[in-house]
Amino acid sequence: MSVDASPTDRFKQFRPPSPASNGNGNGALSAASPAPARAAHRLRLNPTDHHEPDSYEDLQSQLDFSPMLFSSLERYLPPPLLALSRDAKVDYMRDILLRYSPEGERTRVLRHREYRQKILANYKPLHRELYSLHAASFFVPSFLRALKENTEESFRSIITEPSPGIYVFEMLQSRACEMLLDEVENFERWVHDTNFRIMRPNTMNRYGVVLDDFGLETMLARMMDDFVRPIARVFYPEVGGSTLDSHHGFVVEYGMDRDVELGFHVDDSEVTLNVCLGEQFSGGELFFRGVRCDKHVNSETQQEESFDYAHTPGHAVLHRGRHRHGARATTSGHRANLILWCRSSVFRELKKYQTDFSSWCGECLRTKRVRHQSSLASTKLELMRRERRAA
Ligand SMILES: [Zn+2]
Repeated sequence: MSVDASPTDRFKQFRPPSPASNGNGNGALSAASPAPARAAHRLRLNPTDHHEPDSYEDLQSQLDFSPMLFSSLERYLPPPLLALSRDAKVDYMRDILLRYSPEGERTRVLRHREYRQKILANYKPLHRELYSLHAASFFVPSFLRALKENTEESFRSIITEPSPGIYVFEMLQSRACEMLLDEVENFERWVHDTNFRIMRPNTMNRYGVVLDDFGLETMLARMMDDFVRPIARVFYPEVGGSTLDSHHGFVVEYGMDRDVELGFHVDDSEVTLNVCLGEQFSGGELFFRGVRCDKHVNSETQQEESFDYAHTPGHAVLHRGRHRHGARATTSGHRANLILWCRSSVFRELKKYQTDFSSWCGECLRTKRVRHQSSLASTKLELMRRERRAA
């Protein structure tokens, strides 16, 4: 038996929005042409074997491509460039990569970098300590203890799994929630006072802010590396939980003067962390309706897949990005949640070559079982026929 997929319409995958097209009041877009001197050099046809490339890992937040890609590409640089400083090599390689990424993507990357630089140059943070993630004052002690022990048992001791694949645990101290809310409010005030044309977190939320855009990117990267990936490695190995390597972090706000509800959708993530920051509210429950691959994203929900969750401030919900969900109306008060979409480039690359996702897609699994049962039944039938013939 199936239940209604959702109270809303058909289903959407929501993504971060593209930066506004030109004339957005945030300054003109500079052209992306490489410096002429660099164009004179050509990449080598084969990599330089004896050259040990630099590591670019620490520049993750400033690069538009994977640090690994820079290390690999470095071995193809023309010999005169190998002796240059790491910064010079980064500039050179970034130009190359931008030239080969599709036009739309390239423009998007450049616009977005400019957008962020504009904010970082002008916005004054309210709580400086937030930007460095001081774990002891940010997370609750039980969470820190479990993470320090870093075993499935220690995680299970603080986590409940109210429905398969959905993990709930207490995570943030109330002071941390307050600081985050203050910082978001402070940023919104700055946006308002300076008339800054802000990009909202995704195509479905009209309110809320991208934390990565105003300086919290490094802090959130650390939060994913040290506090989400260890858990995802244990509970979501089949969707790249151990190889999460990029994120999109934002705060969404709900209430009568904000977005009221959020339609049924999947996230552009492998694993999503959703932490309620407060404050006073009623309603706003999350509803979940089963995990689905691209092909099955609109297939019906099985009864056992239907699950509703009511938020508690400071508590986190962890789920697969492909776990279909939405948020019911926040009927009174004001609710704000921190959302961290965690992605794995390795998982995304491997997924391109696969068609069976029965290790995580509820519908792929169901189809596979039905096929298996019918093949068992026909084998049985065939055996019975043979026995009869033999008799
Ligand atoms: Zn499927």
